[in-house]
Amino acid sequence: MSPKRYHVMTFGCRVNQSDTTAIMNDLESHAFERSSTHLDADVVILNTCTVTHRSDADVRKAAQRIRRENPEAKVVVAGCFAQRAPEQVAALPTVDAVVGHAHRSQLPIIADEILTSTSNEEDATAHSARIAHTTLEGVPPESLPAVNPHAFVFERTRPFVKIQDGCDAPCTYCVIPSVRGAARSAPVGEVMTAVSSLIEQGHFEVVVAGVHLGTYGARLDPPSDLVSLVKQILALDGLGRLRLSCIEPMAFPLALADLAAENAKLAPHFHLPLQSGSDRILKRMVRPYRARDYGRIVSYIRERVPSACIGTDIIVGFPGETEEDFRATAAFAESVGLDYIHVFSYSPREGTAAMRLPAHVDPRIVKERSRRLHAVAEARWAAFLDRQLDRTLPAVTLAPSSKNGAPSMLALADNYAPIETELSAGLMPNQSVALRITERRGTILAGVLAGGYPLNSRARPSSGVAR
Ligand code: SF4
Repeated sequence: MSPKRYHVMTFGCRVNQSDTTAIMNDLESHAFERSSTHLDADVVILNTCTVTHRSDADVRKAAQRIRRENPEAKVVVAGCFAQRAPEQVAALPTVDAVVGHAHRSQLPIIADEILTSTSNEEDATAHSARIAHTTLEGVPPESLPAVNPHAFVFERTRPFVKIQDGCDAPCTYCVIPSVRGAARSAPVGEVMTAVSSLIEQGHFEVVVAGVHLGTYGARLDPPSDLVSLVKQILALDGLGRLRLSCIEPMAFPLALADLAAENAKLAPHFHLPLQSGSDRILKRMVRPYRARDYGRIVSYIRERVPSACIGTDIIVGFPGETEEDFRATAAFAESVGLDYIHVFSYSPREGTAAMRLPAHVDPRIVKERSRRLHAVAEARWAAFLDRQLDRTLPAVTLAPSSKNGAPSMLALADNYAPIETELSAGLMPNQSVALRITERRGTILAGVLAGGYPLNSRARPSSGVAR
């Protein structure tokens, strides 16, 4: 009997990508064999995101494409879209099974069952997708799927370690709390083992990630917190660099800026979602801070780590956002000195409180505000990159590139600046280097090796999804 072949397509954030690693591990422990393409897979898993309408549309399109290009394959939809709207997903004629977050560990059994039923029971005229789903709202954290910090995700040479999942916040635009359930964290010991194993494998930089990272540890027994975890990770022998992914401003401990000031191993890079610079809109979003509070955090980081990169997410066109609110947001983003801005156009999501708010903004106005804020974002990023000129930045090499013609090596500075450097002999991915910045090339920098040699030789290139 030939092995059952699977292929996973992942949508959305790093937390979801980490879930994909766990799904792959489970499938392979049930004798499924990985296929690098959907074209020759027996079962294709779509691990979905549902943050926007577009996320859902991407999933629908992918399911149609799989059916068109590999009509024999079974299609299983898992992840956040499956969790948010199981019936809606199951109604898609191209979908064979829907698996919510709480049933993720049963996915190999479900995949097995639908593969077997193909030959025996299928009625080609009737569509009925199997649904395995339990609502996560109100489920106590200890009954939710545990956070697995060993389900690593690799972005080139940089592994991401998921240490936290779920969220208890009431942000009115967000579906995450309803699809991922209550906030919960991986135990400190497990996180330390996971990070240690990555260091042991030779990875220079490690990134820790979560849905609401700043709440890390609150429900552990005994309780812990992000600052004490970061201190422990920084003390690990052999760690090159630790980077923190997004931290909500309402849960940002200023002590992280102190740690970054004192310890060069903590990347001077902070991503703090602002969402709006208008207090009126922040209130409607039920974000528990105001623009001046956010400004204080940024000032503190700047004071302690002047070279830090500070980035953000902003939603434009939230219900009730007036031209004045939008201008306040754009002006605040400039005056507070943000280095990069991810711009999101508001899209109503079923099951969110924002959907029921009055004064939804005309989509054409949303589009126009998005365009204007993108222009601010581009200028902020260019200014950040220009400030790096003539500096020597510590960086980690990521991958060879030939984007601008000549072969080069792409690297990422500790402060998140992307840098291209000449592909000199012996330069490999995952090396710690010092790069003197010579010019800005559009949205990235160019630099030369300072001293001409990589600073370490611990490189063990790695890519793809580790298991
Ligand atoms: S903090 Fe707000 S935006 Fe972030 S995941 Fe929780 S509810 Fe969503």
